[in-house]
Amino acid sequence: MTGHADEHERTLAFAEIALGQIKALRQPATPRNYEIWYTYATGYNPSLNQRINDMLAAQDALSDADLEQIYAEFLSPTRLTDRIDSVGDRVMGEIEQVMAMIDAAAGTANSYSESLAGMTEQLGQSKDREGLRAIVEGLVQSAKDMEASNQKLEARLSASKQEITELQNNLEAVRTESLTDPLTQLSNRKFFDGTLARAMEEAREKNEPLSLILTDVDHFKKFNDNYGHLTGDQVLRLVAMSMRQNIKGQDTAARYGGEEFAIVLPNTVLRSAATVADHIRKAVMTKELMKRSTGERLGRITVSVGVATLRNGDTVQSLIERTDSCLYAAKRHGRNRVICETDPEATPEAAKVA
Ligand code: GH3
Ligand code: MG
Ligand code: MG
Repeated sequence: MTGHADEHERTLAFAEIALGQIKALRQPATPRNYEIWYTYATGYNPSLNQRINDMLAAQDALSDADLEQIYAEFLSPTRLTDRIDSVGDRVMGEIEQVMAMIDAAAGTANSYSESLAGMTEQLGQSKDREGLRAIVEGLVQSAKDMEASNQKLEARLSASKQEITELQNNLEAVRTESLTDPLTQLSNRKFFDGTLARAMEEAREKNEPLSLILTDVDHFKKFNDNYGHLTGDQVLRLVAMSMRQNIKGQDTAARYGGEEFAIVLPNTVLRSAATVADHIRKAVMTKELMKRSTGERLGRITVSVGVATLRNGDTVQSLIERTDSCLYAAKRHGRNRVICETDPEATPEAAKVA
């Protein structure tokens, strides 16, 4: 109904803002620039907007090089690998420079010990004061040279240490980004897969319980159709926030798929995990949704949740499957509910009658 028309209007409005910016700033209307300004108009990528605002506050226009840099940093599909490559190049550069410095220092130390040996020999042969003075002066000069060379090496090593610390931070930031879902800022599927496998191993080693929660937004397709995909995206952010607010430090909440979320709960029995799940369900359903741009009330949204706990002989796959079948039992039994694997609704018999 009005959903598609609304989406059409909304996206056209973004397109107009994007073209307006390109015209106002007299930039080439290339696909790259259009993508930058369209993203800017949606506000979907807050760090891109922040960077552009900062740049525009400091200078009147954005040069082609500025736009290239913004695109590479925030939008290019290869930006992560590019960043990793650039960190790699800088690490290699640092190593080469430090190696050259060590070679030079080794050379200086060698010639110092040679000159010491030479002077010791001269000392043995010297008979007069003048000769002795010249030898001592030579010794002092060699020691000074050696000290200067050591200082240079120390300064270079300390600069290197700083550079390497910065590179480590860069790598850590790239790693975090590669494991984070950009829409919700929760962990992404890749991180979830690794975390669940590790958590299962650890639970077995320590003989501790481990539970898993899977959540799916109810009738989300209809919501998107009614209010548009971008408003749908805001709802996903809201569900993510409700999850984040109801878990503890050791738990990992992740975006599992489009509108599906998962939480790994180490050292947590089924009942406690079900309580967490129910807190999340209630948190989502009590939020009244409103379209920020128009103030239009959008009603409420609900989620269905499945909860299962680790058993002997479980694989990652079998634990996920059991949790997923609880989630689907929750859907079958009317949605907006939490079903645990021990609930009667979760049994295969219940599936047949439902
Ligand atoms: P059910 O209660 O059975 O889960 O119904 P549903 O409509 O939520 O289920 P279905 O799987 O049919 O639809 C999921 C919809 O989720 C399809 C798609 O429109 C929407 N979706 C998936 N990923 C995203 C996303 O990243 N953003 C938005 N806005 N919507 C998404
Ligand atoms: Mg789904
Ligand atoms: Mg759904």
